[in-house]
Amino acid sequence: MQRDIVKDRTFLARKSAPATVDDAAVITDLRDTLAAHHDDCVGMAGNMIGSLTRIIIVTMGEEDVVMVNPVIIKRSGMYLTKEGCLSLEDVTRAKRYENITVAWQDDSFRRHVTGYSGWVAQIIQHEVDHLDGILV
Ligand SMILES: [Zn+2]
Repeated sequence: MQRDIVKDRTFLARKSAPATVDDAAVITDLRDTLAAHHDDCVGMAGNMIGSLTRIIIVTMGEEDVVMVNPVIIKRSGMYLTKEGCLSLEDVTRAKRYENITVAWQDDSFRRHVTGYSGWVAQIIQHEVDHLDGILV
């Protein structure tokens, strides 16, 4: 089900809790809500649709990949950039890494450890920040 985008900074500043199999509805809602915003959005975190669970969704080429409980376990190649966010009006500076390794679970809760770089890595870092209540 498509949900409204949360813009309340106080809510967005809260830390999200680990996701469990009981949070399957959040996965569906993230897919539906991102699909409705594909024109101007390449990723979302659970709190952006009102759920304080550690689930993000990231557009990777043709596919929207759901990452449950993502943890960035390695980073290299720091750079500074500017980012926008569907939940915020302004574009702000962010510190990002060119290459990251992420431990995560897919939408069937299978575990993966995967390396990402460039644009996709940047989106993942932005969305994982949301899980920790960090806004760009
Ligand atoms: Zn954002």
